[in-house]
Amino acid sequence: QAKQQGVNNYRFYSEEMSNISNKRLALEQEMHTALEQRDFVLYYQPKVNLQRGVVSGVESLIRWQHKQKGMISPVEFIPVAEETGLIVPMGLWILETACAEAKRITDYLGQPFTVAVNLSARQFQSRNLLESISETLNNSAIDPSMLEFEITESMMMGNVEKSIETLVAIRNMGVTLAIDDFGTGYSSLSYLKRFPINTLKIDQSFIRDLGVDSDDAAIVSAIISMAQDLNLHVVAEGAEKAEQVLFLKERGCETVQGYYFSRPLPQTDLERLLKDPNGIKMPPTVEMGKLV
Ligand code: C2E
Ligand code: MG
Ligand code: MG
Ligand code: MG
Repeated sequence: QAKQQGVNNYRFYSEEMSNISNKRLALEQEMHTALEQRDFVLYYQPKVNLQRGVVSGVESLIRWQHKQKGMISPVEFIPVAEETGLIVPMGLWILETACAEAKRITDYLGQPFTVAVNLSARQFQSRNLLESISETLNNSAIDPSMLEFEITESMMMGNVEKSIETLVAIRNMGVTLAIDDFGTGYSSLSYLKRFPINTLKIDQSFIRDLGVDSDDAAIVSAIISMAQDLNLHVVAEGAEKAEQVLFLKERGCETVQGYYFSRPLPQTDLERLLKDPNGIKMPPTVEMGKLV
């Protein structure tokens, strides 16, 4: 009897699982085709230097312009691309597209500008990573310091020594490195000393409740001071309100990325914004009083 039930359970789960894996398979096929048909597009979200009130760089963020379903968020398809390994060719396309955009931007801005690209774990561990980076840099003819990779702490944890080796090799090419979603991972501060990074990006969960939650204000202030002491750049992610921007500015945060200044933009909108001398509006200082 028990044995019988066990078998039935097994059958139930395995049907369930094959349904899920069929769906995955279909999605994977669809993504393959989408990559070939160029249905993916890179958006760019400005990072604003608070002292100068100018866009100092952008983060590239992928979207899927699905012919039937409309715009699909990376949150939905990046994990599948990771699991299936499709992230490797997709990641190469992202890198090439971002570098081409970096080239276009410097050609008319004529000043330092960084284009950030998110690396996924699977891509980070792939054999050809270093080769792909140096080849893409050569082909795009950009100064390597214009390119920045955003990595997460959890990506590094599997094999720390090997990860450090890869990061050092990337840094040696002249490319810069940022830790994304800082404060949410298995953060061990000792790694900050060992990872050859340039920038900390404070996770948006800490920024969201600035002014509501005094713990978040303390955490954000501490991260900013620590970054300054460690000679790291610091970017606050996800600022939507004037009070948040002013708080960050007051605490000496160098750079802010968030809807307050701009949502991620398609290429033409980004280029229009960069050409507009009044494109970025700093919040009026009176708002500051609202934040305790
Ligand atoms: P992330 O790298 O931490 O990117 C920041 C996310 O926060 C983006 O979401 C951005 O649109 C969103 N964001 C920025 N400012 C605000 C704000 O003020 N308020 C709110 N509510 N959200 C804000 P997005 O584009 O949906 O990307 C989500 C995640 O998907 C990214 O998180 C990243 O982990 C992944 N991703 C996106 N593009 C790529 C890519 O090209 N390659 C890889 N490997 N991952 C990517
Ligand atoms: Mg990122
Ligand atoms: Mg982030
Ligand atoms: Mg994230």
